[in-house]
Amino acid sequence: MSKLMVTQKIKLAVKHNGQEQAKINIRGNIIGGERIIVIAGPCSVESEEQLIEVAHIVKAAGAHILRGGAFKPRTLPYSFQGLGEEGLKILAKARDETGMPIITEVMAPEDVELVESYTDILQIGARNMQNFPLLRRVGTAEKPVMLKRGMSATIEEWLGCAEYILNEGNLDVILCERGIRTYETITRNTLDISAVPIIKQISHLPIVVDPSHGTGVRSLVNPMAKASIAAGADGIMVEVHPHPEKALSDGDQSLHPIEFQCLMKELNQLSQAVGRKF
Ligand code: PEP
Ligand code: MN
Repeated sequence: MSKLMVTQKIKLAVKHNGQEQAKINIRGNIIGGERIIVIAGPCSVESEEQLIEVAHIVKAAGAHILRGGAFKPRTLPYSFQGLGEEGLKILAKARDETGMPIITEVMAPEDVELVESYTDILQIGARNMQNFPLLRRVGTAEKPVMLKRGMSATIEEWLGCAEYILNEGNLDVILCERGIRTYETITRNTLDISAVPIIKQISHLPIVVDPSHGTGVRSLVNPMAKASIAAGADGIMVEVHPHPEKALSDGDQSLHPIEFQCLMKELNQLSQAVGRKF
């Protein structure tokens, strides 16, 4: 049987013989266990009204963790940059109201202390995957880290970045496949579903898939979410907006509430078919 090889210099992010799958406990939600974990919410926190509305919608549909960006990595400086600390406060309020843990992105080492004081998971975005000072800093944080794959990163480079965090002592690292740049332009990115079984074979770290950024196209989110679970992912992260046409970022890939409810029903059936709990 052929074996997938990565450099032997990666020590902590690869699975050693007999090493168990890492299980990361987010306020009682285990990522890396039998159960499929669903992270859902808007691309950006836009207002208290918007976030609280969508938080109740995703919670009622069965989501486990609420997402929402307060510090946004935008392609242009003229685009909505996020509400900053005000957004973090709104996320914390949504957690208080719904009981759902929250995840949000941190973009700079000097913001980690602030973001960590609000969030349950620190998200490192694709554009910052190789921001080594940021990786080192979240490696000393008390909260779990979700490391998104850089859009031009190999799997080995991605694991090297996980190694930076683990090497600082933070062992709670979740990987997130979110698509890579290829010659294909009909989608925003090319979602690398094969990364899921590859990570499962070579690493003990949990992996979730983000089919929203992975495709950039609303109608592709449902099939690619299902493909991710079928391939063995521990969870998915999807963007949901109460009114996608009014979204301040990523409206084209955000699910309408009804679409998210349908997806959750289908994922429930699929998870059982592939031997997972939902
Ligand atoms: C996000 O999830 O909010 C995001 C910006 O995604 P990515 O870093 O994968 O582009
Ligand atoms: Mn987005």
